[in-house]
Amino acid sequence: MRLSVRTYIHNPLRCFKCQRFGHSKTSCRGTLTCARCAEVGHESTDCTRTEKCVNCKGEHTSFSRNCIAWKREKEIISTKIKKQISYPEARKLVNSQTPTPGNSYVSVAKKKSFSAPSVQNNPDASAVTCPKPSDSSAKASPPITNLSLPSSPSVPLRGTSSIDVKF
Ligand SMILES: [Zn+2]
Ligand SMILES: [Zn+2]
Ligand SMILES: [Zn+2]
Repeated sequence: MRLSVRTYIHNPLRCFKCQRFGHSKTSCRGTLTCARCAEVGHESTDCTRTEKCVNCKGEHTSFSRNCIAWKREKEIISTKIKKQISYPEARKLVNSQTPTPGNSYVSVAKKKSFSAPSVQNNPDASAVTCPKPSDSSAKASPPITNLSLPSSPSVPLRGTSSIDVKF
């Protein structure tokens, strides 16, 4: 008997009250936020204001499938299922792969700019009379290159093919 492993990756759970991901309206501890304009205090039903996303501040509704926060949330869920890890672990993994356009990218860039001084493997340099204990500094910690997760965007999006494009 062969087990057909079907890894169905469900869509991110979005709270209908505060529009955040990962919990439902019934367990929400946030404030009522409009899914259309991201303002607090009213529902999106009668809202006619400019679209603004709660989660990524983009110019779309909070339930838009073009939302980068939604796509990232989906990626976290698929990573969690594929790698069989916990949600916080998957979120950390995805966030480390896709740097947010904010201070986290700057901090990474700053770390990368700190490069070791050009070490010259010149044996004659040891002949210099100045005693330098440079052996310990040569053993610098290598950069973390553990980000070799295969990004596979070919996740079957079942149920989202409701757009009938007819030309
Ligand atoms: Zn909520
Ligand atoms: Zn609104
Ligand atoms: Zn968004």
